[in-house]
Amino acid sequence: MTTPLVTQLRVAGLTPTAQRRAVLALLARHSRPLTAQQVHAELTSTARHIGLTTVYRALHSLADAGLLHTFDLGGQRAYRHCGTAPHQHLICTRCDAVTECPPEIVTGWLSELHQHTGFTPHPDRLDVRGICATCAGT
Ligand SMILES: [Zn+2]
Ligand SMILES: [Zn+2]
Repeated sequence: MTTPLVTQLRVAGLTPTAQRRAVLALLARHSRPLTAQQVHAELTSTARHIGLTTVYRALHSLADAGLLHTFDLGGQRAYRHCGTAPHQHLICTRCDAVTECPPEIVTGWLSELHQHTGFTPHPDRLDVRGICATCAGT
C-alpha cells in the first residue's frame, strides 16, 4: 500500500505545494532516478509551466525530507522516489534501474564483514552496482 503523495508530504513536514506534488508524482511513476533536467523536461512536456530553478528547489526539499533518495548518474545528481520501508539499492549500470532490496538480505553479509575486518558498516544506505535481471536476461 502506498500512501497518497499529499499525505507523504504532510508527514514529512512539507507543505504540499503544486510544484512538490507534480515533482513527486512524476518520480513516483519512474523506477529509475531522474536528474533535475529530466524532471523539468518531462514536466514541461505535459504543458505545465514550471521553471528549472523551481524544480531544483522542489527536489532539494523533497530529498532533505527523506522522500527522495539521491544517486550519482554519470556525475549528475539524480533523484528517485523510494518506498518508505528500509531498503538497500541495487543499481543497474546498464539501464540505471534501481531495485529496492530488503535490508535482511545483506544483514548476514554485513555482520560477516564486521567479523573479518572489524569495520562497522552503516547499513542505512548501501548501493550495490551491477546488472539487473532484465538486462542480464537479454
Ligand atoms: Zn531508496
Ligand atoms: Zn538493467
